[in-house]
Amino acid sequence: MASSSSYTNPPCAACKFLRRKCLPGCIFAPYFPPEEPQKFANVHKIFGASNVSKLLNEIQPHQREDAVNSLAYEAEARMKDPVYGCVGAISVLQRQVIRLQKELDATNADLMRYASNQQSNNNFNYGTSHDDHHQTNYGFSPNTTWNNNPEADDDIQ
Ligand SMILES: [Zn+2]
Repeated sequence: MASSSSYTNPPCAACKFLRRKCLPGCIFAPYFPPEEPQKFANVHKIFGASNVSKLLNEIQPHQREDAVNSLAYEAEARMKDPVYGCVGAISVLQRQVIRLQKELDATNADLMRYASNQQSNNNFNYGTSHDDHHQTNYGFSPNTTWNNNPEADDDIQ
């Protein structure tokens, strides 16, 4: 019953775009469905259909979907940003990771100071702190970022 359906199947987005007959076994058909014409249009514009078919033929069938998705992502990014493409997004995210890592380090240092101050206060022992050798000096001032008076924040829901 499935044998007659291949005659009525619409061509894949690639074959439709290239105005050619979509034959059974078309390398593009599984990855460029007719409902997503822009996906192939972008990939074709940036990489070229023949390069894409060559690439898909060179890799294992189970890797083709991932390859097409990454090509589509790269092509779309390159259309939006002709200079940096997806490298623009990657470097923004890398900077964000570095900034958040620094923030996390500072917050962890705050937390360690806060915890050791609490411990010192409980012991009435202001002069020394325990386990000092575990602490790294991040060179920050605790008053700059730490809210010393959390009770004043009346935003508890
Ligand atoms: Zn096709």
